[in-house]
Amino acid sequence: MQEQFGEKIPFCEPYWYQGGHSPYYTENHKKYRALVRDFVEREVKPNVDKWLKTGYPKELHQKSCELGVESVVYPREFGGKMPQDYDPFYEMILYDEVARVGGGMVLGHIMINGLGLPPIIAAGTPELKKRVLPDVVAGKKFVCLAITEPTAGSDVAGIRATARREGDFYIVSGVKKWITGGAYSDFFTTAVRTGGEGMGGISLLVLEKDMPGITIRKMETQFDTSHNTTFITLEDVKVPVANLLGKENQGFKLIMANFNHERFIIAAETCRKARICYEESIKYALQRRTFGKRLVEHQIIRYKLAEMARLIEALYDNLERVGFQFKSNVPDAKLGGQCALLKVNASRTFEFCAREAAQIFGGNSIVKEGKGKIIERLYREVRGSAIPGGSEEILLDFVIRQAATEATKSKL
Ligand SMILES: Cc1cc2nc3c(=O)[nH]c(=O)nc-3n(C[C@H](O)[C@H](O)[C@H](O)COP(=O)(O)OP(=O)(O)OC[C@H]3O[C@@H](n4cnc5c(N)ncnc54)[C@H](O)[C@@H]3O)c2cc1C
Repeated sequence: MQEQFGEKIPFCEPYWYQGGHSPYYTENHKKYRALVRDFVEREVKPNVDKWLKTGYPKELHQKSCELGVESVVYPREFGGKMPQDYDPFYEMILYDEVARVGGGMVLGHIMINGLGLPPIIAAGTPELKKRVLPDVVAGKKFVCLAITEPTAGSDVAGIRATARREGDFYIVSGVKKWITGGAYSDFFTTAVRTGGEGMGGISLLVLEKDMPGITIRKMETQFDTSHNTTFITLEDVKVPVANLLGKENQGFKLIMANFNHERFIIAAETCRKARICYEESIKYALQRRTFGKRLVEHQIIRYKLAEMARLIEALYDNLERVGFQFKSNVPDAKLGGQCALLKVNASRTFEFCAREAAQIFGGNSIVKEGKGKIIERLYREVRGSAIPGGSEEILLDFVIRQAATEATKSKL
């Protein structure tokens, strides 16, 4: 058996933390895991209740980047601490470990840049990258992703914000809704319409906080508001053509490629949230007594815990399988179905675990204090996994539409 790391109760940590063998993790991954856990335990956990109300302090990003926690996913050439053997398993460890303190920490802290920065890395001009990346990688500035609009959520190809070319500038007008991290961000990776209707008329443009014409309003959400969900109004914002990502009218492909990565990291975060439901529940069931027995001695409670563990373990295997496809450089176009299924698998697992955990905690899961307060909080985060980044209905429909198209094309 390998050495143990973290919680010893079976299934409270991924299998390779608890002595299981794996082909994916090296000594360097283990060192990185220890680094992130130490950061979360020392810097975040003692403050998280306060920060879930106030939002995360910007200095926390700087600290996590300096330590190499957050910046492990950023390219070295811009100051990131990406190791020579970097692979998606580092990213999986990052989101899994950070999610241990609740979803607000991932969405409000690390995922801000995780959504908006990859298209800039993939398709920004060298000058744009030089301007955006160093400060973001150092944790001093932030990027968010602004795709969705009040009239275009699932139907991304229906966005209406326009970017009209005038010489060396685009003039951008429109509205963006539910933009995570908007109040915090310095750069906005924004989907705009530069051409005709549909997906062929969309471009990605980087807007900057100080450009006149941008108004940002914070929106309250069902769960904690530390992640700054915002409504953004764009009125004749003058944006240099040099801020275009890739080619004009070809932004849809960039958006789609980014979705695969987004779904992978949402699934990694969601898997840990489901695991926390299990961890909190088994610890509670080992202590709480009803009818003269500990809860864990009632068969129906054991059954609930077993079902949670079964789904979480299967989800973790699923994450590793998709992570290995990214590592093996499988083209994004071939990963859409796998990433879509993975995200649905994650949100359904989390939904089930949050429900069963709430039943195990009883009344304690309904109040925002005491032993069940984490479960109360997680229960309110379920829809935040199931809808943003591709809702369950849209993803499942996409998977079979794509399969049917391929089958029809090749006359299977
Ligand atoms: C907390 C939060 C954070 C977010 N962060 C961001 C962000 O950072 N950046 C960003 O750009 N966006 C963000 N979003 C937006 C998010 O991606 C959208 O909410 C999501 O894509 C769904 O769009 P919609 O809400 O407009 O639902 P709609 O598209 O209006 O759909 C409504 C419902 O109908 C279902 N539905 C729609 N069409 C079909 C169909 N053809 N067949 C079957 N069912 C269908 C959907 O599954 C959904 O359940 C965020 C949203 C939230 C709530």
